Amino acid sequence: MRIDLHSHTTVSDGKLSPAELIAHAAMSQLDMLAITDHDSIDAYADIPIPELLPFRLIPGIEFSTQWSKLEIHILGLNIDLTSPKLQAGIARQHQHRLDRAGEIADKLSRLLGIDNILTAVRQLAHSDHNIGRPHFARYLIEAGVVKDDKEAYKLYLGMGKKAYIKPTWTSLTDIIECIRASGGIPILAHPARYQLTWTRLNKLIDSFIEAGGQGIEVISGNQTADVTAELTTICLKKQLLASCGSDFHGHEQHWNKLGHSRPLPHECEPVWNHWH
Ligand code: AMP
Ligand code: MN
Ligand code: MN
Ligand code: MN
Repeated sequence: MRIDLHSHTTVSDGKLSPAELIAHAAMSQLDMLAITDHDSIDAYADIPIPELLPFRLIPGIEFSTQWSKLEIHILGLNIDLTSPKLQAGIARQHQHRLDRAGEIADKLSRLLGIDNILTAVRQLAHSDHNIGRPHFARYLIEAGVVKDDKEAYKLYLGMGKKAYIKPTWTSLTDIIECIRASGGIPILAHPARYQLTWTRLNKLIDSFIEAGGQGIEVISGNQTADVTAELTTICLKKQLLASCGSDFHGHEQHWNKLGHSRPLPHECEPVWNHWH
């Protein structure tokens, strides 16, 4: 079975539109796909009859959350897209994104002496409430301020840089509650990417479980075999469900193809065992 439960479209910072991603998933002979845009489920509005697809589409989202001053990403898989609690949670995130975008634009305006940056960045995002740092990076490149993405984050948008604004995401606990209320399964996304020591990662996972979290991405993108072995151990020890996803953003990340991650270690319990 070819399964990918973590992917992005132009609704957040992916390069393919929802329709293009769907077509690509069909061509790649996927059996199951979850579209998990950052803080948004808008992609699903563009897929009117999921039952007609040649693979199973699992409704999903990737929330940015706050835990102990860190930004932690939580996937909600198999959510009910019509859940009022889910929609309220998303609306809160959108307000955080919009507020932060205004602050980043103000900072950049002062630094660069350019007016109306927010107006220009708005045109690059799918909608106002999905504005993220990648849209600011694209703006800075197109305005000739920086030469590439790398420079945009290094000089302006990266953590602690000149136009960095600390995000105020909803807490990990509240997001997990919101995913559970919508019938979804909360999964800790790419656990090895927060650069935590294993002790601290275990603390994070304990808080995640205490709040109602149910699984972790044992396989994320093209991580090393060592990382997979550690995450398998944690997954088994804490009796969590296991998920796998590429975190596909587009074809230019040629090392990270849709549906081509390694299979889940056989001793882990796949999250999709819970879906009928
Ligand atoms: P946001 O959710 O709006 O804070 O944007 C986060 C996204 O910005 C990440 O998913 C990356 O795509 C991108 N990003 C953040 N920091 C960097 C960085 N240092 N280099 C390249 N991309 C980055
Ligand atoms: Mn992203
Ligand atoms: Mn993420
Ligand atoms: Mn992602």
